[in-house]
Amino acid sequence: MESIFLYDTTLRDGLQREGMSLSVDEQVAIARRLAEIGMHYIEAGFPMSNPKHAEMFNALEGIDLGSTKIAAFGMTRRKGVAAADDPALIGLADCYAPVITIVGKTWDLHIEKVIKVDRAENLRMIEESVAFLVGQGKEVVYDAEHFFDAFDAHRDYAVECLLAAADAGAHWITVCDTNGATLPHDIAHAVRTVRSALPGVALGIHTHNDADCGVANSLAAVVEGARMVQGTVNGYGERCGNANLVSIIPSLSLKMGFATLPDDRLVELTALSHYVAETANLQPDNWAPYVGRNAFAHKGGMHVAGMLADERTFEHIDPTAVGNERHVLVSELSGRGTIVAKAHEMGIDLSEGDDVPRILARLKDLEHRGYHFEVADASFELLIEREIGVYRPLFTLERFRVVTEKVADGRVSTEATIALVHDGERVEATGLGNGPINALDTALRAALEPRVPELAQIELVNFKVRILDEDKGTGATTRVLLDSSDGDETWGALGVSHNVIEASWDALIDSLAYGVRRRARQAAKTGSAS
Ligand SMILES: [Zn+2]
Repeated sequence: MESIFLYDTTLRDGLQREGMSLSVDEQVAIARRLAEIGMHYIEAGFPMSNPKHAEMFNALEGIDLGSTKIAAFGMTRRKGVAAADDPALIGLADCYAPVITIVGKTWDLHIEKVIKVDRAENLRMIEESVAFLVGQGKEVVYDAEHFFDAFDAHRDYAVECLLAAADAGAHWITVCDTNGATLPHDIAHAVRTVRSALPGVALGIHTHNDADCGVANSLAAVVEGARMVQGTVNGYGERCGNANLVSIIPSLSLKMGFATLPDDRLVELTALSHYVAETANLQPDNWAPYVGRNAFAHKGGMHVAGMLADERTFEHIDPTAVGNERHVLVSELSGRGTIVAKAHEMGIDLSEGDDVPRILARLKDLEHRGYHFEVADASFELLIEREIGVYRPLFTLERFRVVTEKVADGRVSTEATIALVHDGERVEATGLGNGPINALDTALRAALEPRVPELAQIELVNFKVRILDEDKGTGATTRVLLDSSDGDETWGALGVSHNVIEASWDALIDSLAYGVRRRARQAAKTGSAS
């Protein structure tokens, strides 16, 4: 099986994404994960560019990353200076990284307008910089910036730039679609031309997603002979992002027959994608191909029936191959099969007996009243439990009261008091909050946390209120959707009522009940008591 070398630039190009910022520790943690999953190269920024980059770059020096190679990133020498006298190139030569990626100009628009050198000097800058670093014992990756624009504008000179790097001994020549607007057929044509002009040279591809073709362009280049793919986790990057390695890797491995990650690591892909998103404090994309929560979600009754007969009817790969899982979305349209499948996902066998018609009737009634279980898997699981009589409430409510006070100077405060029975014992507590739901949550946790320590792990991460029958004004029905997380998983719970506080309360207790049960299930699975 032929190998494609994976070159991750999340920590350099990926960090150009608007709003993305990572501390040095977070960057090091991501580098470890990238190495663990088996990326061949990790580009770790410009060691000489700014203090934060330098700190991260230096921090990686002492870390065992297995066979993953660190690449330092820099530019060709400045104009009119010998490579051996260029401070940036000397820094790259002296740094610990075994791989140096240097970027150089290819497109005359940049050569003439940005760096303002003539074409011949640009070729010397490429050739001498590569030769210098190769002479220093480095593995050199030459990144030809704006290659595809240059190929369009003046094909012969664009190819000459690559030849200059190849003749100087570059180990890899990467053609870059820096502006990200090239389309797959043009990428294919250009790479084919390059391959015949530079026979035997190892080619790489670096694309951006401005025309939504970052992944397609990378695959097209591989078909034409590129053997290194540069990209980022989740496609993070400037503007519309870089080529998304998380989509490219399984396409190469599962559909195109190439070796990419070590065989046993592909199943870590979903976890890697979520880990990097969470570390960067970005919401994981639920609709991401291969790794998104909805990538293998099935909703329509016929789809679900087909799935139960044979997964291949509606799934392009086995979701477990990339560490993802199948989800059955429940909705008003659901049939019997959906409920059996969802219960099966929960470890409950409903194939016999008359539970299913009853659950279905209940589900349809609730959906008619404004519930929407498709986005509230926790509430749906609890609904099934209630219907088959295995639901154990976390506590029994005696009463709660919420008081919001606004005074003339504008201050608003909310206090909730709650009385409940847990394990046969009556407990009372009070909580303050920035609003009624927050105050109720605080009071409930004050009452229960000493008795149910798992609650401390559960955090409310999202709170959405929807008015269902808007024409009824303040008498309208309200649907509250709460997303909670314990750091590993996020789940949704909902409540519907004419009273927004009651709707929120229902969502809150479902959310906590589900979370506590999930923690207990996890603890039983790992055999730990925590
Ligand atoms: Zn780039």
